[in-house]
Amino acid sequence: MSNMEIALFGNPNTGKTSLFNMLTGSYAYVGNWSGVTVEKKVGEMKNKKDLLIDLPGIYTLNPLSKDEAVATEYLLNDPFQAILNIVDASQLLRNLQLTIQLLEFGAPMVLGLNMIDVARSQGIHIDQDMLSKRLGIPVQSIIARTGKGCRELGDFLVKPHLQPSNILIDYGPEVEELIQEIIQMIPSENKINPRWLAIQLLEGNFVVRKKLEECISKAQLEKQQEKIESIIQEKYGEKSIRLYLFKKRQAFINSILNDCLTTKNKDHKIFTEYIDPIVTNRYLGLVIFLTFMFLIFKLTFDWLGTPLSDLLDQFFSGPLTTWIEKGLTALNVSQFIQDVIVQGIIGGVGGVLVFVPQIFILFFFISLLEDSGYMARIAVVMDRVMELVGLNGKAFIPLIIGFGCNVPAIMGARTIEQPKERLLTILLNPLMSCSARLTVYSLFVGVFFKSHQALIVLSLYVLGIVVAIILAKIFSFFIKSEGSIFVIELPPYRIPQYRTLMRSTWEKGKGFVKKAGTFILGGTVAIWILSNVGPAGFNVPADHSFLSIVCSWIAPIFSPLGFGTWQAVASLVTGFLAKEVVVSSMNVIYFVPDGGSLQHVVSHVFTPLSAYSFMVFILLYVPCLATVATIQKETGSKKWMFFSIGYGLVVAYAISFVVFHGGQWLGIGV
Ligand code: GDP
Ligand code: MG
Repeated sequence: MSNMEIALFGNPNTGKTSLFNMLTGSYAYVGNWSGVTVEKKVGEMKNKKDLLIDLPGIYTLNPLSKDEAVATEYLLNDPFQAILNIVDASQLLRNLQLTIQLLEFGAPMVLGLNMIDVARSQGIHIDQDMLSKRLGIPVQSIIARTGKGCRELGDFLVKPHLQPSNILIDYGPEVEELIQEIIQMIPSENKINPRWLAIQLLEGNFVVRKKLEECISKAQLEKQQEKIESIIQEKYGEKSIRLYLFKKRQAFINSILNDCLTTKNKDHKIFTEYIDPIVTNRYLGLVIFLTFMFLIFKLTFDWLGTPLSDLLDQFFSGPLTTWIEKGLTALNVSQFIQDVIVQGIIGGVGGVLVFVPQIFILFFFISLLEDSGYMARIAVVMDRVMELVGLNGKAFIPLIIGFGCNVPAIMGARTIEQPKERLLTILLNPLMSCSARLTVYSLFVGVFFKSHQALIVLSLYVLGIVVAIILAKIFSFFIKSEGSIFVIELPPYRIPQYRTLMRSTWEKGKGFVKKAGTFILGGTVAIWILSNVGPAGFNVPADHSFLSIVCSWIAPIFSPLGFGTWQAVASLVTGFLAKEVVVSSMNVIYFVPDGGSLQHVVSHVFTPLSAYSFMVFILLYVPCLATVATIQKETGSKKWMFFSIGYGLVVAYAISFVVFHGGQWLGIGV
C-alpha cells in the first residue's frame, strides 16, 4: 500500500529530473534546456511505499499559461502529503521566490539544496542549519547528479512529524488589509490555506481565481483585484501588484541570504570570470556571437550540410527511384499506385527529406550553444538592443532557436517571466525564418540567383528580423506591460555531455522527420490526387484537375504580387501544413515525365522579381500548422492564434506587393 504522495517542485533546470531519478530509481531523460519535464511523472520511492510526483519546472505559482498551470492546479486539487522543493544553491536569490510561495501555501515541506558542487566552485558557502531555521523547514544539501545527500533528503521526507513552516511575510498594512478582507469572504469549510489563496488572487493567479469563483461572486473578486492595483500604483508607485510582491519577497530573501550565505573570495579566478567580461562585452560580445553564427551557417550550408544534401538528392532521384520502380513492377503494382509512390512520395517527400543534413547540423550547434551555457551570455549582450523594442535579452534566445524551428522556440519562451515580453516573443517568432522555409529559398535561389545565393537568402533572414522589430514596437503599444522583473543570471559553463547533446539535437530534429512522415506525406499525396483527378475522371492533365479549378478562383488575388497562378496558390495553401510542403507540392504539380526538372519549369513560370516576391510571401505569411497549434497552447488563447495568422497574411501581402511593384517600377528582375 502506498502511504504518502510527495510533490516535487522547482524552477526549470535545477536538477528536478536528476533528483527524481535518484529518489525513485526509475530512469527519465535528463536534459539541459528548461522546460524538458513537461508531463506529470510519477515514481515509486525506494521504500516501495511512497509516491513522488515530478511537476513541470516553474518560476512562480502564478502561471502564465495552461501548461504551467499544471503545478498550481495540482496544489489546489490533489491530495498530496508533502512538498519537496528543489533549488539551485548557486542561484538562491531567484530560486527562493518559488520557495516562499510554497511555504505560504502551508503544507509540510522539505528543501533540497541542489548543485552545492557548483555553488562551492563559485566560492559560495551556505549555512544549511541557519537556512533551515530561517525558513522553518528541513534543508538538505545534495548533488542530484551524483546522488550525494539524496538518501538523507529522502529520510526527511518520510518522517512522520514533518510540519509546515510558519513564516509570514508582512506585505505592508494596505495589502494586508485587503488580504484580510478576502480571507473573510472565503467560506470556512474551504481546506486550502486562505491567506495563500488571498495573496495569489491579488497577484492575479487565474487558477486560484477560478477556484474562488466557486464560492465568491465574480464581481466581488474583480473589485478586490482592481482595488489592489490602484493601491499599489497610488500608494507605492509600483507598476503592478505582481512586481510589488516580487520585490517584497526579494527583500525577505535577501535578509535570509545575508545570514546564511557567504561568498569567499578565492585567490584564483575561475574560468567564467576570465571569459565572461569578454563574451558579454557590449561590442566584442556581438562580434563574437556573429562570428559563431556565421561559422555555424557556413558549416550548416556550405561546408557540410549542402554537400551531404546533394548526395542524398542524387541517391533519391537516381538509384532509389530505379530500385523502387523495378520492385513495384515486379510486384505487379498498378500504374496509378506506382505514380503515387514515385511522383508523389519520392518526388515530393524525398524532395524535402534531402534537407535533413542541414537541419540536424543546425540543431546540433544550437544545442551546443545552449548546453554549454553560452546562450545566456548572448542574452546579456542582446539585452540593450532588445530593450529598444520592449523586449529583454532573454527573448533573444527563443528568436535564435526560431531559425531552426518556431515550435521549440515558442516553447522556449517559457523562460521569459514577464507576460507581455513572453507574448511578444511568441507572436513574433514565426517571422524568424525557420529551416523549413529554407527549402523554398534553396529551390528559387538555385534557379534565379545563382551567383548571389547567400546574399539573397541572407536578405530574407534580415527582412524577417526587421519586420519583427518594427512589429514589436507597434504591438507593444497595445499589449499591457508590467515592466521587467528578472535579471539574467549566468549559469556556469558546462562541457556538454555527449549523450545530452545528442539527445537534445534529436529532440529538436525529430519533429522534422516526423513531419516528413505525416504532414508532408499526407499533403503531398493529397496534392498528387487532387492534381490528377478532375471532373473528367482520373489521370486528367493537371490543368483540368479539381485542384486547378479551385485554385484558379483564388489566383487573381495574388496577381498583384506577381504569382497569380493556380499552381502557386495550391503550394501556398498546402504550405500551411508545413512550409516544406510548398516544395513537395511544386514537385508534384509541375511534374514533368522523362526527367524534366522542377528547376527548369520554375524558370519559365516565375521571373527573378516574382520569385523574390514569392519568397518574401513564404517568409511572412501564416505560421505553419504546428506553430499555430503551439501558439494556442502556449498563450492559452485562440485569439492570439488567429491574430498570428491574420497579421502574417496582411504583412506578407503588403510587403510582397511593395517588393513586386517597386521592382517593376525600377525595372529590376522583370
Ligand atoms: P530539471 O530541468 O530541473 O529537471 O533539471 P535536470 O535534472 O534535467 O538537470 C539539469 C542539468 O543540471 C543536467 O545537466 C544535470 O546533469 C545537471 N545537474 C543536476 N544536478 C546537479 C548537481 O547537483 N550538480 C551539477 N554540477 N549538475 C547537476
Ligand atoms: Mg527535468
